[in-house]
Amino acid sequence: MTEQPYEYRRRELVEPDWRRLPGWREVTREQWENPQWQRVNCVKNVKQLRAVLGDLVDEKFHADLEADQQQRATMSMLLPPQMLNTMVPDRVPDTDSFYADPVRNYMLPVLSDRRLDWPSHPYATRDSLHEHDMWVAEGLTHRYPTKVLAELLSTCPQYCGHCTRMDLVGNSTPVVDKLRLTLKPVDRQDAHIEYLKTHPGVRDVVVSGGDVANVPWKQLESYLMRLLDIETIRDVRLATKALMGLPQHWLQTTVVEGLERVARTAARRGVNLAIHTHVNHVNSVTPLVAKAAQTALDVGVRDVRNQGVLMRGVNATTEDLLDLCFALQGEASILPYYFYMCDMIPNAEHWRVAVWEAQELQHAMMGYLPGYATPRIVCDVPFVGKRWVHMVADYDRERGISYWTKNYRTGIELDDPEALNRKYAYQDPIYTLPEPGQRWWEAQHARHTPGADAAAAASRKAAQREAAEPVGAH
Ligand code: SF4
Repeated sequence: MTEQPYEYRRRELVEPDWRRLPGWREVTREQWENPQWQRVNCVKNVKQLRAVLGDLVDEKFHADLEADQQQRATMSMLLPPQMLNTMVPDRVPDTDSFYADPVRNYMLPVLSDRRLDWPSHPYATRDSLHEHDMWVAEGLTHRYPTKVLAELLSTCPQYCGHCTRMDLVGNSTPVVDKLRLTLKPVDRQDAHIEYLKTHPGVRDVVVSGGDVANVPWKQLESYLMRLLDIETIRDVRLATKALMGLPQHWLQTTVVEGLERVARTAARRGVNLAIHTHVNHVNSVTPLVAKAAQTALDVGVRDVRNQGVLMRGVNATTEDLLDLCFALQGEASILPYYFYMCDMIPNAEHWRVAVWEAQELQHAMMGYLPGYATPRIVCDVPFVGKRWVHMVADYDRERGISYWTKNYRTGIELDDPEALNRKYAYQDPIYTLPEPGQRWWEAQHARHTPGADAAAAASRKAAQREAAEPVGAH
């Protein structure tokens, strides 16, 4: 009998044993499950990583990491022990397995991961989704007609290397000076509530950041209760990667009891309260993550959903995506909802996949999971919003430019009569293009870059040849 392209096997979730790592040999379960212990012991720099890993990983890795932090990283390092413990989860790591690990790949990016030819796409921008341009109050993005994104703060308990909000979220890095929120939290929240009260057409609020796990609980509860007081708000979604990165936060009594009060109020008001989390690899789905999700459901949150990011070297294979979805859906009560294509931020080309690759992955995923739990892969097209990857209107495969249409005006186009007649472009990574397409981009670059000449093109060519080995290979 011919094998199916994907074989489903149920796998029990396992909490990797943190005591396999030299720095945590003496750490007890009680400490591990304590959110304060997790926060205090976050890894924020190479020295702290060395202290946890001891001599398991060669100095060359640490130097590679340090070089990336200095030269390319758009996010500073912040890694809760829970997340670090899901790297090489089933054995004592060594240099090669640590380099090859998918969670390491996006949480601890190193310089040798990045592309040498085009580390950034020429169209990459800091605020690639133009969320800041669409602020109607500080931190409140009104992009879709009926929904808003409310950024309550600009920090998270963990920083992901590919963060699409790298413009605002986290500490400045040597290469990125971050935008700062300037209002006091209470004034920012007042401004959001005022806008929502006066705009009854907005019915859906994604409460985000950053990560809501970093908002002091009392403050978050008060904001949520004020939202629930507005008659026209019908959906509230809490965005927190910490449900996976720091599940201990969502399991502490203050938070569980507070969440229950909010969920009861939402249910009484008939509002859909959900948690949206961000898991990119099956190795991150552990019993503690499942417990945090189940606890939220037990206290009345209507749904816990996952919005992962599709990234080469992390999860961009059918097997990786389906393994993750089955673990979420079957073992952790988390609905596999979306995979976003990695956005066009600086220095992200090695993670990004082309639209045609995303279409192939979407096709390969169909038919295995229950229909309602089959995630959509979406492209967040600048000035458009989320589009399923098969909704592309036109596609120049040679130059890797896809064109998309839209059916609503974003907040900054309300007076633009042509907004719905235009096609909006999205660009594939240049190294995925056929030769003539790559040459076209080189010529464009040479034309638009002062001083770019034949010599520069030649050195780019040399770098390209050097980078010919598959991304992530070491
Ligand atoms: S948790 Fe979300 S907002 Fe925070 S760094 Fe990661 S991707 Fe960015």
